[in-house]
Amino acid sequence: MLPVSGRHLRIREPRGDDELLVLESAGPAAETMLALATRLATAGDGSALDWPELPAVDLSAGALLVREAWLGGTIRTEALCPSVECAEPIDVSFGIAAYLDHHRPRRFRGAVEDGSGWYALTGSDVRFRIPLIADLVAGTLGDCVRPDDLSAAAARRVDRALEAVAPRLDGELAGSCPACGRSVELRFEPISYVIEELRDASSGLFSQVHELARAYHWSEAAILALDRTRRRGYVSLIREEYALV
Ligand SMILES: [Zn+2]
Repeated sequence: MLPVSGRHLRIREPRGDDELLVLESAGPAAETMLALATRLATAGDGSALDWPELPAVDLSAGALLVREAWLGGTIRTEALCPSVECAEPIDVSFGIAAYLDHHRPRRFRGAVEDGSGWYALTGSDVRFRIPLIADLVAGTLGDCVRPDDLSAAAARRVDRALEAVAPRLDGELAGSCPACGRSVELRFEPISYVIEELRDASSGLFSQVHELARAYHWSEAAILALDRTRRRGYVSLIREEYALV
């Protein structure tokens, strides 16, 4: 489930053309993720989701849920110990479900939602709304707060309110170095992390298309339309056959 909008997702298996999109996208990671989520994920009842109108943080959650569907629910990454004398690699590992649960939205007492999606900070004329994926992609996050000339104190209150009602999923992961015990912080940005990981996971696509086209003389379009499991199934049959010769 997406934490802020509360929408349930149904994520279908990737096809070759989805993996091609990940491999060939050159724009910002958020744009790639939006395109991918639009192709892969519908609402729980199978109807299309209007992704640009969903909260921006739900795109990060969607990225993690797509990752879970493609590659499983445990993220394993590596940081280097910041101590120059040590510089040991440190394994960082966590579950996506637990991570999303830890970042669930909470009620915020100092702001009232007016029914139109805008919140008013109590005791002030400051209003804000939860930034949408459309704002994230268009770079219009600044349009989500009024008035424009906020005092630093009011800006901090808006940040605190947003952190409660729409918690950001990017942030620091904490760990400690097993060699020297020093504590380590690792910056984690779900969208760019997931796009990079999916790109790695899709890196065998071209050689698989090549093997299938050579063996069966199927068109590139037909091969890219296969879902990942079937494509890999055929490729392993071809490889088994060659291994037997
Ligand atoms: Zn260390």
